Amino acid sequence: MEMNDIILKKRMGNALSKAEIAFFIEGYTKGEIPDYQASALLMAIMFQKLDIEETVNLTESMKMSGDTVDLSPINGIKVDKHSTGGVGDKTTLIVGPIVASCGVPVAKMSGRGLGFTGGTVDKMESVPGMQTTMDTDHFISQVNRIGLAVIGQTGHIAPADKKLYALRDVTATIDNLSLISSSIMSKKLAAGADAILLDVKCGSGAFMKDIDDATSLAEMMVHIGHQFNKKTVAVVTDMSQPLGHAVGNSLEVMEAIHTLKGQGPKDITELSLELSSIMIYLGGRSKSLDEGRKMAAKSIADGRALEKFRQFISAQSGNPDVTNDESLFPQAEHEISMHAHENGFIHGIDANSIGLASQHTGAGRMIMGETIDLSAGIVLQKKVGDVVQVGDILATIQGNDEKKLQAAKIECIDAFQIGKKKPAGEPLIKKIIGLL
Ligand code: URA
Repeated sequence: MEMNDIILKKRMGNALSKAEIAFFIEGYTKGEIPDYQASALLMAIMFQKLDIEETVNLTESMKMSGDTVDLSPINGIKVDKHSTGGVGDKTTLIVGPIVASCGVPVAKMSGRGLGFTGGTVDKMESVPGMQTTMDTDHFISQVNRIGLAVIGQTGHIAPADKKLYALRDVTATIDNLSLISSSIMSKKLAAGADAILLDVKCGSGAFMKDIDDATSLAEMMVHIGHQFNKKTVAVVTDMSQPLGHAVGNSLEVMEAIHTLKGQGPKDITELSLELSSIMIYLGGRSKSLDEGRKMAAKSIADGRALEKFRQFISAQSGNPDVTNDESLFPQAEHEISMHAHENGFIHGIDANSIGLASQHTGAGRMIMGETIDLSAGIVLQKKVGDVVQVGDILATIQGNDEKKLQAAKIECIDAFQIGKKKPAGEPLIKKIIGLL
């Protein structure tokens, strides 16, 4: 088999066989196929697309390119959750303790990632002492003991995706539904859970800007999950404004703690309850979503979810006292505020601009491997629908480098749209796909 023939076949718009896809993925992972040929094939895929069978085969090959995790020594139905990424999304840190306290084991591998803020693993590392690496035996025994473990993804999970994603990032070949679906699902399937909940973000702060694209992505990933005999559900949720008020690593952990205490912002609380209800249902602990939601709400109300979060921190060598004392988190030296220049209602807070502003504060990485400022970020003082008057603080911007904060402020200024009438607002949960 020759890579040149495979590129030509796709360039001409023909479907690739399972063997051809496997040849490409194996050869590229081993370094036998050079970047320029892989790039040419990716670009041919951008124009000619992959059909669903090719997409499933690509997922399978990427999943098998590295280690697959065997979670069978963990008792119960293991449910994984994945978000396609948004601004201010700290739901894993809320939903994990909630569902674990309701009896659903959560054994999660999370990313660091590039982008607006760090990934879940970076956020966790803002808790003093918290460890995010451990060997598989410890990982499994922690889940069996307390029901919850979250660690960084190892390089051995779907290495083909790691290499291909880096190439896609610099060859303008990210935004293809089949490439995104196979990239996400290969990692989720290799991570070994019995059921998968996908939170597909839709709006300016997400990959998928409109509902049709987000729905297509959700449907494709659910289809792939089913082909691998995994219960898979996708929720399409709003990312036109940031989730909650806090954007930045330690700021988001603090907001997660408020939410676990029942004092979180409305949107983050609502989304966390919705996702928890589905995970509890998929994990076989409730007979309906409604029952799952009541269980989730009760675990917050009676303090079990917060207690589970403290156990989780302790189990991973972190200081659980952060739940009572925010001064234990890394502290920013500088803070500046952004004020409203007109009266009215907040009509929009562009999630993409706030995400970029957060990255400018130092809370997110511009390049892979960069050190991030765990104390930096943005706190929105207003959300869509709120009344504002001239001089009100719209957002506070914090970090340790004053120049970076000024750059972030410039990015933030255009993010807020103010109008005279109260806006209708976007529904937070737009669609649920894959529930039988
Ligand atoms: N997240 C991934 O893991 N892969 C993609 O291709 C896009 C988002």
